[in-house]
Amino acid sequence: MIQRRNSAVESLYLNRLEDYLTGEIELPASRLNKRPPGIHQSDLNDNSCILKGYYANTLEELPPMGVETILRFATGRFWERGVAFSGELEPKQLDRIWVTPDDYHPDIGISEIKHTISSSLSDVRTDFPQWVCQMKNQAYVFEEDHVNLIVMFVTGNTASFAWDRGNMPKGTRYRGVAFIAWTFEFTEAELEDNWKKMVERRDLLESSINDEIPIHRDIVLEQLPCRLKKGGKKSYWMCEKNSLGEPRCGYRDICYLKKELIK
Ligand code: SF4
Repeated sequence: MIQRRNSAVESLYLNRLEDYLTGEIELPASRLNKRPPGIHQSDLNDNSCILKGYYANTLEELPPMGVETILRFATGRFWERGVAFSGELEPKQLDRIWVTPDDYHPDIGISEIKHTISSSLSDVRTDFPQWVCQMKNQAYVFEEDHVNLIVMFVTGNTASFAWDRGNMPKGTRYRGVAFIAWTFEFTEAELEDNWKKMVERRDLLESSINDEIPIHRDIVLEQLPCRLKKGGKKSYWMCEKNSLGEPRCGYRDICYLKKELIK
């Protein structure tokens, strides 16, 4: 995998935003399409919860979103749709897995657009493995040899997360906001290995949905993100409550595993 910062891509997007702010271009009102039914890459990506995919595909009615979830997701989606050159791209399905890139521009190809309250000092490969997995899926399914990652770090090189504060190396100059674009290139073997893993997870999820038996804890825990608390105890933050005291995951109240993970 090659990851290089791409200042040409940064300028392309920043110029677009400036053109918008000075009235040179209009951003069309954007409508988000309903997700096609079935299994999506987001159900299967690294650092995510595969059990959510089980509940999403077996419950008659999805649980309502909390206020914090609505606001955080909406901010990210406004940013993504505002900065993107293309309208929302048509999802493409391969091996019964839906994949949807965020943007396409004829000069630079497809891009994944992110908005985060994590620090710009984060290492994408280790701190956001789900983004890397997503980009590999897109490169594979859309037969591209590279994918751009466009990230708005809204808190710059600080971080809004309590556990991430204080990670700034001594002498680092404070930056209140950061906008970084990288271009990722993957080898064929990396893409094939990644897709093989996606198809294996799809098989697990499909049989779990068909049999209406939630996925086994050991499989869920292989992917579920966690951080270590003082004393080395694992904290599965995705299953915890958010800062407004609402479930961060909509399935928290019915999830069989949450009871084991959060005492
Ligand atoms: S509560 Fe946790 S384990 Fe359960 S579905 Fe949600 S994220 Fe997954």
